[in-house]
Amino acid sequence: MSTTAPEPRLEFLESGPKLYIDGAFIETGASLETRNPATGAVLAEVPVAGQAEVDAAVAAASCAFEVWRSTSPVQRASLLWKLGDLVDEHLEELAVIEVLDNGKPIGEARAVDMALTAEIFRYYAGWTTKISGTVYPNSVGNVLTMGRREPIGVVAAITPWNFPLLEVAYKLGPALAAGCTVVVKPSELAPLSSLRLAQLIADAGFPPGVVNIIVGGPEVGAALVRHPDVRKIAFTGQTATGKTILRSSADDLKAVSLELGGKSPNIVFADADFDKALAGAFGGIFFNQGQACVAGSRLFAEAPVLDQLVEKLSTKASSIRLGHGLAPGTEMGPLISSSHRARVLSFIDSARGEGAEVVSGGAVAEVDGLDGGFFLEPTLITSVSNSMRVAQEEIFGPVLSVIPWTDPEELEHLANDVPYGLAAGIWTSDVPKALRLAERLEAGTVWINTYGMFDVAVPFGGRKESGFGKELGAEALEPYLQSKSIWLDLDAAPARAGQSVGR
Ligand code: NAD
Repeated sequence: MSTTAPEPRLEFLESGPKLYIDGAFIETGASLETRNPATGAVLAEVPVAGQAEVDAAVAAASCAFEVWRSTSPVQRASLLWKLGDLVDEHLEELAVIEVLDNGKPIGEARAVDMALTAEIFRYYAGWTTKISGTVYPNSVGNVLTMGRREPIGVVAAITPWNFPLLEVAYKLGPALAAGCTVVVKPSELAPLSSLRLAQLIADAGFPPGVVNIIVGGPEVGAALVRHPDVRKIAFTGQTATGKTILRSSADDLKAVSLELGGKSPNIVFADADFDKALAGAFGGIFFNQGQACVAGSRLFAEAPVLDQLVEKLSTKASSIRLGHGLAPGTEMGPLISSSHRARVLSFIDSARGEGAEVVSGGAVAEVDGLDGGFFLEPTLITSVSNSMRVAQEEIFGPVLSVIPWTDPEELEHLANDVPYGLAAGIWTSDVPKALRLAERLEAGTVWINTYGMFDVAVPFGGRKESGFGKELGAEALEPYLQSKSIWLDLDAAPARAGQSVGR
């Protein structure tokens, strides 16, 4: 089966991707190149925002905020629903763009990235009409006390390259449903699907300025974080970047939510359904080329199943079909860039240096017809201890570290003994045992006898250095809303200001 594939001509790419500010598609004086990671070839020249475009995008979002917050919830719902439908209508094109820009296999781009993106817009369309306030009880007397939930204002959504469009949708859906306006800055490494989405946003009929999409690197992200008219930063990316953003946003106390890195334990007990656990361990790390925040990168294998698990994983890993994401039969694509691949390789070297054993993969992969691509062999490392660098730091590549265990208490300690707290997996046929362990794990999500499942209605987010704030579900609306208490004196008598105990 061929590892290469013809790349279709896309009108969107041929006409030149543009930034989207205040309802207009614009070029700028500067540009950056995005590369197809499967070939290394330049895919497109994309205009880059400077300070002028950052200011224009935020100004447009500020103006549009007055319009959008007073657009009726029913109308907001209808636009969001329409956007979901447009994503579905253009699903194939969007999936192809994602494959070309990111490298992932087309089947995953269709079934995961694009399908969930469309669902997110429709799910949050449903929420626009359900954001209600409250009436509080009080002990003051003839006074009505009410709570309103209001949109927070202009949001800067800053996103990574591993699920380029989906990460944007995670933020846009709830922000727009809440009544916020948004400036999106997708990753400079894979911005194309977001710029294509801008055209669908215009086609759906959103008022100008409600969504603005600009491209650039860290300096453009930083300019958004500094901007005084941005009220909230919705960020997904590396933990180190999240910390920088939190520090810069302290100057004017912006609201911040951070979805950051992970180093998730995937724990196999000897009493697990072996084949299911094997499939979960395999998919948990190699899905999306291992470039997933939730990657189950530390496999804790109970001693009796350790050897069998390693043997089967090694066989499966070495038979993964690497290729162009558009080639039929490709199971794994390239990493995002040459420099990222070099970083992943440096982790493998460090594991060797610390005494671990690379039993499968561990090197640059040669793929027929794709010499310029950024491929890496799926890698399995054994004899890893939890204190090694390879087990402590996020690698963000197809590298699985296997850590043996025997004592359940020690296991619990080791599973939690990393700076991160994003996700975890447990494989056992003993459900009470699994639930007890799930309670003890420091993770925002625990999967039992499954791994990596997502649903629009189920909140997702991290703990510890994996960040704070939630995406998906009703909880994801909260970071985009702020509450206001309103007091109404119902007494006909003269005003009673200051009568009650104040602060
Ligand atoms: P990154 O932190 O390098 O970049 C993310 C975004 O931030 C990009 O748009 C980038 O241009 C921008 N940026 C970089 N420096 C900035 C700064 N100083 N100020 C403002 N913006 C800045 O992350 P990445 O390499 O694109 O993505 C990979 C990381 O994302 C991994 O750590 C992964 O775990 C994490 N991630 C987390 C989740 C989650 O939900 N927790 C989901 C996906 C990815």
